[in-house]
Amino acid sequence: MADKPHQNLAIIGHVDHGKSTLVGRLLFETGSVPEHIIEQHREEAASKGKSGFEFAYVMDNLAEERERGVTIDIAHQRFDTEKYYFTIVDTPGHRDFVKNMITGASQADHAILVVAADDGVAPQTREHVFLARTLGIEELIIAVNKMDVVDYSEDSYKQVKEEVQQLLQQVRFNSDDAGFIPISAFEGDNIAEPSENMTWFDGPTVLESLNNLPEPSPPTDAPLRVPIQDVYTISGIGTVPVGRVETGMLRTGDNVRFMPSDAGGEVKTIEMHHEEVPEAGPGDNVGFNVRGVGKDDIRRGDVCGPADDPPSVAKTFTAQIVVMQHPSVITAGYTPVIHAHTAQVACTFESLDQKLDPASGEVAEEEPDFIKAGDAAVVTLRPQKPLSIEPSSEIAELGSFAIRDMGQTIAAGKVLEVNE
Ligand code: GDP
Repeated sequence: MADKPHQNLAIIGHVDHGKSTLVGRLLFETGSVPEHIIEQHREEAASKGKSGFEFAYVMDNLAEERERGVTIDIAHQRFDTEKYYFTIVDTPGHRDFVKNMITGASQADHAILVVAADDGVAPQTREHVFLARTLGIEELIIAVNKMDVVDYSEDSYKQVKEEVQQLLQQVRFNSDDAGFIPISAFEGDNIAEPSENMTWFDGPTVLESLNNLPEPSPPTDAPLRVPIQDVYTISGIGTVPVGRVETGMLRTGDNVRFMPSDAGGEVKTIEMHHEEVPEAGPGDNVGFNVRGVGKDDIRRGDVCGPADDPPSVAKTFTAQIVVMQHPSVITAGYTPVIHAHTAQVACTFESLDQKLDPASGEVAEEEPDFIKAGDAAVVTLRPQKPLSIEPSSEIAELGSFAIRDMGQTIAAGKVLEVNE
């Protein structure tokens, strides 16, 4: 399994459109549910004379875990296609899904957008598509779900497809890079096998589409960036910052710098999965030790990079944002909290520079007095404490952020320019 290329997959879409059911179906069809667990249930269900019980079991299990609040376990479910192994990057319906998606805690390479055939484009469909666009998800697979509910009607499918295409055009998502598939996650149509109920459709199944996705290219050539999650003291080693390598390569002997704390030195050891390794690359979770760097010199939210190309620290930065929800309006002076990689820093809206037309991306208004939910805008933000962040065009992995206030994600953004 590990020798196949890995893909991080997000499942997005409006609540109740069938995201969890699709996840359950994908796990089930790819044999990713342990056999002994299915066996256990098979006997029980047989004694009760039920059919279709294996899939129902997967769904029960997902629902149960969700109720127990241990959704994070499901988030790391894996399944295989012939070419790739997939990790579902976050659990549908998870409270912090949107935030996690933005801050990179669960950065997805690709996404499946689930749209129920009997409901069409709904508010969260819109919101998630905006996000996927802002965060640079390249390809979308659009699953028009619950086709059984509309009697597998081609007309209903076409109607929903048209609605979604309009939405994609609005946010300038290249709809050539979007594949539409009519499915029933519940009944299993067009998931692993072409559906006999929809012979009018001759496109690929969901699993075929997943298998046909382009391979993600790991950003090994970009400069090293490791956002720090925690800093430990380990006896015999000393101070051990831990984090995930987002871009570039971390090697022993490298001279590194932690910003904004502005401490650094030579990398002595790198540990991954409890083993010492000479180097680590994108996606690797590491703990490492740096000569001369003590526990109080660095902190969570720092970013580690090469001493000769250290992470940028923003005095102010300009960003393109999409306001997803806000009870009133946003004006200059507003100071919510920005979540970017592992950092959380209060930032003041210094100026609202441009309001953009979400349909064309063109400037709709210079220096607007306010922006509100549904608006896209270019703004200048001033962190109230030093914040390390990068222009999205240079290091995309360190260039997106969520704006949070009162426990909610207000907006998503990507950094255009950093003024150091
Ligand atoms: P989520 O909120 O997007 O994760 O949606 P769920 O997967 O929890 O599904 C919401 C409801 O729709 C549940 O009652 C599912 O059983 C039902 N559902 C999901 N997919 C299908 C489908 O393909 N056909 C039918 N008839 N019902 C479905």
